[in-house]
Amino acid sequence: MKCTNCQTNVDLSARFCPSCGTAVTAGHEVISQSEVTIEWLINILKGMGYIVKPVETAPDVILATKDGHVHFHMQIFKDMNLIGFQSVWEIKKPSWLNKDDFLAALNTANSKGWLCSVFTPDSLDMIYISSYIYPTESISNRDIMLFVKNFNDAVILMLQSPELDKYMP
Ligand SMILES: [Zn+2]
Repeated sequence: MKCTNCQTNVDLSARFCPSCGTAVTAGHEVISQSEVTIEWLINILKGMGYIVKPVETAPDVILATKDGHVHFHMQIFKDMNLIGFQSVWEIKKPSWLNKDDFLAALNTANSKGWLCSVFTPDSLDMIYISSYIYPTESISNRDIMLFVKNFNDAVILMLQSPELDKYMP
């Protein structure tokens, strides 16, 4: 995010520009839980530089990609009042066929407090990383932006973690 006054890059969590002190107002648009729509989420993601595509077979699901490698599905579960993220990575690692070792590595990763939970299909040629936002009575653009950033950071950390590297071929 850029400062509206001096164009300095400002951290998403900052309330004031560290360079010129201008109050950061972008992302303060607060809406109620019931007003969360897929269109609202699409606009936020586009503002963050994501390419966003609808998923034809599911009206409340979108696919967001950035830089060609970070990608996730984002879904609104209206009856449960939550927003879900799922990042799917098609990674084929022959040594991951030792499921106990692989799950031990994932448990270690999760115990570090990352936002994600992970599961794998039996074939172990993909990993699914998912996380959820539970909006309280209201939610802002910035809440979504911070969550997306943390989610992506967690995914990238997970894919680079030494625990997982031990199981790379
Ligand atoms: Zn500034």
